[in-house]
Amino acid sequence: MKEKMITGITPSGEMTLGNYLGAIKRCVEFQDEYDLYVFIANLHAITIPQNKEILRKNTKEIAALYFACGLDPQKSTVFLQSDVLEHAQLGWILNTQSSIGELSRMTQFKDKSQKTKAKTKDYIPAGLFTYPTLMAADILMYDAKYVPVGIDQKQHVELTRDIAIRVNNKYSEVFKIPEPLISENKIKIMDLQDPSKKMSKSSTNPKAIIYMLDPPKVIAAKIKAAITDSENLIKYDPKHKPGVSNLMMIYAILKNITIKQAEKHWTGKNYKDLKDDVTEVLIQTLEPIQTRYQQLYNSKDVEQWLEQAATKARLEAHKKLNKVQNALGLNYNRK
Ligand code: ATP
Ligand code: MG
Repeated sequence: MKEKMITGITPSGEMTLGNYLGAIKRCVEFQDEYDLYVFIANLHAITIPQNKEILRKNTKEIAALYFACGLDPQKSTVFLQSDVLEHAQLGWILNTQSSIGELSRMTQFKDKSQKTKAKTKDYIPAGLFTYPTLMAADILMYDAKYVPVGIDQKQHVELTRDIAIRVNNKYSEVFKIPEPLISENKIKIMDLQDPSKKMSKSSTNPKAIIYMLDPPKVIAAKIKAAITDSENLIKYDPKHKPGVSNLMMIYAILKNITIKQAEKHWTGKNYKDLKDDVTEVLIQTLEPIQTRYQQLYNSKDVEQWLEQAATKARLEAHKKLNKVQNALGLNYNRK
């Protein structure tokens, strides 16, 4: 039997190149080898204030984009998190099995609470704090062995492991212990205008982000305006040359070559050459995805695929939840 793998994406904005390179592209490559589960984490999205129409639009867009990027509904289980009610129930249970101390140490909470606070006059939703326990539920629900995530989510997967081990020791062996699967080159695509921080779909500066649905002209303009440095030397050095290194990384991944090979390719060339090459490979990659997306967005197929997958996921989730409830003494009669 194939090992299970699970990953998710929050519909908190339009899908970015960071999401594609750090998560989705890899999932598409994994779907033959693994039993892949992919969910659209709309319950996670509402941990920061959302406009309901925009949330719906982003959810529909991300679903169609997943399939347009190559996820195959016959091979992979792609579903909407809120369609499987058991996620919230298990999330609550895991909330009771984790501590305020460990949740306080999550860097995503520190970052996002600061950003949210600035926008909402000090109002920080409690869900932002308990986000990792819901994420632990998402993962542990399906006995996933691997969780392919960007390096930014590694801490959350480690916490999931800690919680699972704790519950297994305290009650009974109900959870399989998952492992984060971080890509070898630790893909973290950076913001084009401030390469010290990661490219995030919830960021407010659209110039800093390549969106998967950006038209070629917009891509060219954003890459042209991307921050580099004044050295005009193409060298991979994320610490001292974060902007240039980020562009090199984008190119190398899309071309399926190593950073060393990319560096060699640009020997004796300048930043204009670098930017032209990155723009070209980006357009080549995104155009066919965008064409498939246009075909899918208004078809009924996506909705049907999501519903089929949710039906399958619900059956499994129901079984797992029962097992956990039994272990904790929550079922009135042992089931
Ligand atoms: P948000 O700002 O709402 O957190 P996000 O862009 O960080 O949005 P998520 O939905 O949190 O996206 O993450 C989806 C997947 O994309 C995760 O596996 C995450 O590790 C990966 N990912 C997100 N941003 C990047 C990035 N800049 N580089 C590589 N991978 C990324
Ligand atoms: Mg994120």
